[in-house]
Amino acid sequence: MRKWMCLLFAFCVILSITALTSIYSSAVGIEISHGDRVFIRGVKSGKYIDVPGGTLSSGEKAQIYEGNQSLAQQWDIYMFSDGFFLIRSALNNRYLLSVNYLESSEGGAAANGSYLILEYFPDGTPIPSRAIFTTVAYNQYGVSKIVNKQSLLQGTLKYVEALYGATGNETKLVQWDTYSTVDTAFNQYWVFESTNRMPSYGISHLVDLLGHCDYSGSTKYQALFNRGVAAWNAYMGTNRFRQDTNLTVNDFTIQDETVASGNPNATASTDYINKKVTFYTSAMDALDGDVIRQKVVMHELGHVLGLDHSSQSGGNIMNQGGFAYWTSLALDDKASYNYNIVNY
Ligand SMILES: [Zn+2]
Repeated sequence: MRKWMCLLFAFCVILSITALTSIYSSAVGIEISHGDRVFIRGVKSGKYIDVPGGTLSSGEKAQIYEGNQSLAQQWDIYMFSDGFFLIRSALNNRYLLSVNYLESSEGGAAANGSYLILEYFPDGTPIPSRAIFTTVAYNQYGVSKIVNKQSLLQGTLKYVEALYGATGNETKLVQWDTYSTVDTAFNQYWVFESTNRMPSYGISHLVDLLGHCDYSGSTKYQALFNRGVAAWNAYMGTNRFRQDTNLTVNDFTIQDETVASGNPNATASTDYINKKVTFYTSAMDALDGDVIRQKVVMHELGHVLGLDHSSQSGGNIMNQGGFAYWTSLALDDKASYNYNIVNY
């Protein structure tokens, strides 16, 4: 593998790596179907729908919590033929996510502010609409809203969201009307991630024998680059990325070019042979804002560390088509790094 050409929001062009992609194909996509076991990640918070304390009790409120891959954050999808589905706890499939309309301020399952709870249904119990959901797709990257069926039947669609838009651990979940400006920065948006993930490790990297990635050169996106470096270093717990000095060995160079030859939509590339990360200013400048540009930067730094493209959406930096407005490392990014580090 010589070079990654990275196109966010375009087709994934991977040079000389066709054979490798099959290795990752066992990672399930995020369009849910019957029998899938999934994590459900909030786009705004980056946190996962979670059973508090990992202990089920009927009536307990569901919450969001930082990803830890435990069974408390795993959900089994039971899909009906009409596309509606149950969200069953992997801890015990008789516990379903449900809307607790009895606690709502206004009464009735269609009320704003009704909490999402874990509700126990003994075997053979008919499942009421309050424990049945469907999704409304938001974009092609697998981001969707989760709608409660009871609210739909009552004609006032309510969407699952974190209470008051909070993003902290243990924030409870409620249902609410749509209220947009993309529902106050994605509080009503969710991504289903397969638990059948595989580490997305590459076969090359630009990490030197001392475990550093010392860079020289510069880019017009330097401020974003520096932020990306800081974010990766913070996660890694070490300043693996460092600006090159005359006391260090240069591991790679950063530079800008106007446009990628043969690939005008490419935003950036990582070239392992020539040890270069190139940003293509034409495509970069066309992106919708610095948040997305910073994501591109962090994505290339992932390649420098040897990370492959991730098949997992849900805000993963290493997912080519990943959700754009997100610059924190996500679960699969971290898993990929944690796996890859043994190769340094
Ligand atoms: Zn890439």
